Amino acid sequence: MSDLKNKIDDLLMKVNKPARYTGGEINSVIKDANKVKIRFAFAFPDVYEVGMSHLGLKILYSLMNERDDTYCERVFAPWVDMENLMREKDVPLFSLETKTPLNMFDVIGFTLQYELSYTNILNMLDLSKIPIRSKDRKGYPLIIAGGPCAVNPAPLSDVVDLFVIGDGEEIINEILDLVASCKKDNVPKEDFLRRASKIQGVYAPSLYVETYNDDNTIKSIKPIEEGVPAVIKRRIVKDLDKTYHPDKQIVPFINIVHDRIVLEVFRGCTRGCRFCQAGMIYRPVRERSKETLLKLADKLIKSTGYEEISLTSLSTCDYSQIESLVYDLIEKYKDMGTGVALPSTRIDAFSVNLLNEIQKVRKTGLTLAPEAGTQRLRDVINKGVTEEDLVNSTKEAFKAGWKSVKLYFMLGLPTETMEDVKGISDLAHLVADVYKDVNGSTKGLKITVSTSTFVPKPFTPFQWYPQDDMDSIINKQNYLKELLRGKIFSYNWHEPNMSFLEAVISKGDRKVGQAIIKAWESGCKFDGWDEQFKFDKWLEAFESVGVDPKFYAYKNRDFDEVFPWDIVDVGVRKDYLKREYKKAIEGKLTGDCRLHCTGCGIKDLDEGVVCFEA
Ligand code: SF4
Repeated sequence: MSDLKNKIDDLLMKVNKPARYTGGEINSVIKDANKVKIRFAFAFPDVYEVGMSHLGLKILYSLMNERDDTYCERVFAPWVDMENLMREKDVPLFSLETKTPLNMFDVIGFTLQYELSYTNILNMLDLSKIPIRSKDRKGYPLIIAGGPCAVNPAPLSDVVDLFVIGDGEEIINEILDLVASCKKDNVPKEDFLRRASKIQGVYAPSLYVETYNDDNTIKSIKPIEEGVPAVIKRRIVKDLDKTYHPDKQIVPFINIVHDRIVLEVFRGCTRGCRFCQAGMIYRPVRERSKETLLKLADKLIKSTGYEEISLTSLSTCDYSQIESLVYDLIEKYKDMGTGVALPSTRIDAFSVNLLNEIQKVRKTGLTLAPEAGTQRLRDVINKGVTEEDLVNSTKEAFKAGWKSVKLYFMLGLPTETMEDVKGISDLAHLVADVYKDVNGSTKGLKITVSTSTFVPKPFTPFQWYPQDDMDSIINKQNYLKELLRGKIFSYNWHEPNMSFLEAVISKGDRKVGQAIIKAWESGCKFDGWDEQFKFDKWLEAFESVGVDPKFYAYKNRDFDEVFPWDIVDVGVRKDYLKREYKKAIEGKLTGDCRLHCTGCGIKDLDEGVVCFEA
């Protein structure tokens, strides 16, 4: 082992950002690995700076390490400079805490946050000298995966032994208990998986078979033996206030993407935006009480020394006690210079007033997401904001001294026309006019317009709708480049071919999984990184396994079509999604279900699931 540590030390002298691989940060956990029953590697399939910003890692790392019988360590995808050296010097992928090769762990748990990180999972297994296909692994660590992308487990079904569907902290202890007892009794992997499949929220793909119709749509996904559930019901934390939240966070040696305390104020969202997968698969809204949050904030500040607290959720301004929470936090910590950040801001004057309060301690950026350029299209996607909201909120912000605004939109939304695309530019110009009214001129103003490409996702009302094709998106981007000329505007856009691939994988079946393996074999990795993305290799990979990617991204789906993700029940019913789809096409709105239940079905998923009650 010390030989490996020496080899790693040698490599660290030659790579960028060696702190990505050293471990030893404040609040990282050191245990005697010989005294535990289970060694668990929490694997994040992207670089350290991205993975260390992830709330799920913080929660599960601390929660698992609370167990005396388990040691959870971390591992991230090594950047290409490190990987090249590791392969050259025959250094296997290792954990940060004890520099143990990954193939010596009992369980490796990947978090699936983004479809374009899937090739990194294969690369990390290969670097660990672990076969990438589940069927080739006997006597190797168990490979499990969870996170939002696990709601469609099909594309990674040949790779992952066991998927966890739903809130990880609700289920992980049951899985670890089973791992401990099966390890003690030397239970073979197949039997372990059979037993694990009885735990609600576990999907063991080797126990199911996917069959196809002649037109390549799915015929059925069925268990191959008795006693295995036909549908996997998502696990839900029912009372967030009583659920584990770490009171320590690892403090990295290098800057990470979100380098601050992360405090989760609630989970779920009631707004019902029709493009938003998170808004559907994390229902219902479950809040932490203000008292619990203030206590947690106190402990986290003391244990980390951070000077910023991010209040995180899908829509933090919707927290029922947001004003008094922000006020109390600012009052309590302003003398220490500790600020508060709201990561997502709604477009209303209330949110901007909150930001005004917050920026008395620390200046934060003003980022607003109208998502679509016209009221017609915002109604289609059920984004309940108006032009008037944008005018009022930016006016308040400019009066308070803001000079730069970021505006986020999506291109390719269902029913979009060039009129809607022009509407994006019109809104940006309207914001410039508001600034001029407040300040007399546009001097000092900076408006950044960013567009991403709409990706139709499983478990949303738009899961039946085709993605806009790449040429059309490029055309729309070029149009916006023309319209947003001038010193005060800058325009950023997202590569449409990456969004195309994201659509293919997120709606993919097991055959798409074969293309992912092929793409990785031909050198694809870090596909979410512009400089690493090799679209040509992906197209070759699809062709070589006989899969047409356009079928997955561009096909207009029938309402009665079986989807690869129908094996999963997230709680939101298909008939609700169909209803929402039809309302979208008619441009009809659905109200915030905090005020009136709109019947999505989540209440019936499980006993004890309670929606937010005002
Ligand atoms: S059951 Fe009703 S209140 Fe609960 S999340 Fe669904 S629509 Fe909203």
